[in-house]
Amino acid sequence: MAYSQIDDFTKKIMDKNLKITRRKVVLNALFSLFLATALSAQVTVKPEPREGFEERIRKALSSMPVVDTHEHLASISSLSKSKTLDFMWLFHQYADDDIKAAGMSKPQFARLMSDSLTVSEKWEILQPFYEASFNTAYNRVTLLSVDHLFGVKEFNEKTVHLLTDKLREVYQTDWYHTVLRDKCNIQFVINDSKPIPGNPDFFRYTTRFDYFQLDSRAKIEQLGKEHGTAISTLDDLNATLRKHFENEVKSGLTTIKNSSAYYRSLYYEDVSRERAEEVFREVMAGGEAPLDPDAAKPLADYMMHRVLDLAREYQKPVQIHTGLQAGDGNYIMNSNPALLANLFLKYRDVKFVLFLEGIPMAVNLEAWQRISGMCISTCAGYISFHLPTVKGIFTNGWKLFLPTKF
Ligand SMILES: [Zn+2]
Repeated sequence: MAYSQIDDFTKKIMDKNLKITRRKVVLNALFSLFLATALSAQVTVKPEPREGFEERIRKALSSMPVVDTHEHLASISSLSKSKTLDFMWLFHQYADDDIKAAGMSKPQFARLMSDSLTVSEKWEILQPFYEASFNTAYNRVTLLSVDHLFGVKEFNEKTVHLLTDKLREVYQTDWYHTVLRDKCNIQFVINDSKPIPGNPDFFRYTTRFDYFQLDSRAKIEQLGKEHGTAISTLDDLNATLRKHFENEVKSGLTTIKNSSAYYRSLYYEDVSRERAEEVFREVMAGGEAPLDPDAAKPLADYMMHRVLDLAREYQKPVQIHTGLQAGDGNYIMNSNPALLANLFLKYRDVKFVLFLEGIPMAVNLEAWQRISGMCISTCAGYISFHLPTVKGIFTNGWKLFLPTKF
């Protein structure tokens, strides 16, 4: 039917509909405009920053005091006397994982860390593996460090000699102080396990209470010997832990450390005393032979809760390795921070410090912002920020989800 044939009534309706449609379009446009204005008003809560804010942020960050929560420093006096001190020490820990991932075998890397080869021979062996892995975050940080410390911008046959000479020279000085305090503005360092002699205010330390692999009578007896106790019951084991803990508190430990994700899951069930006692008796009855890890787990879980009871009593923070681990052969899901949720909820008054931000599972942490005792310690995580996905989690996730206390 042609438009001319439509009766007046139909035409009126069609005209009206057309007007309504036009009005709708205008209203929709107005609404969209309103929405856009409202949304932009919501997003822009503060005026745009003045030009040059990147530089101002960089300056503010570089003058910010830092607490170094996670170190495995060797004593400087042993390093200064070491015959193995050469450029290879720059690849010791973390960077070595990438060299090995590029194909170097573990024994070959160990040989490069010994004094059996000259600097040139070492570089000749290392070079192809370094060139196959120069792009990784850990190797880029190694290069960044030698640039900042010695003005060396690449590793080559010439610079590895120069770096070896420099390292041998600087380790005769108070080098830790120069790097940690002068260059990095670190207020104090928490070193793993051993206090570094000299300045206890600056070099603090953490202790592991690894009562999580007590799967044989021999291990339990050995533990008793180390702490001057005789352990034949679960009560004795608890008393040994308390004695060990209190001695460490007297010696000045700053934090408690848990790296158990290297060998077990971070899920520590709340096991009853009766169940723990049953497993303890089974372990003691087994003599030298270790109990199967699954069978021994309830005792380990129970002991973790006792460590946390002491952390609460003495108000000591608990550092836990989560996320990426050093070396290969680890089960990444063992270190998922989500496995710790039951501990955070039960021990709300204990301060938990999650190492390495749980990367690559960091997204879990954002959901726990309301657990007041939880802190995230970036440690080597800042290196992983070179990875775009992790950078995204940090910049877009954390800043929106986490209060500034993190
Ligand atoms: Zn560590």
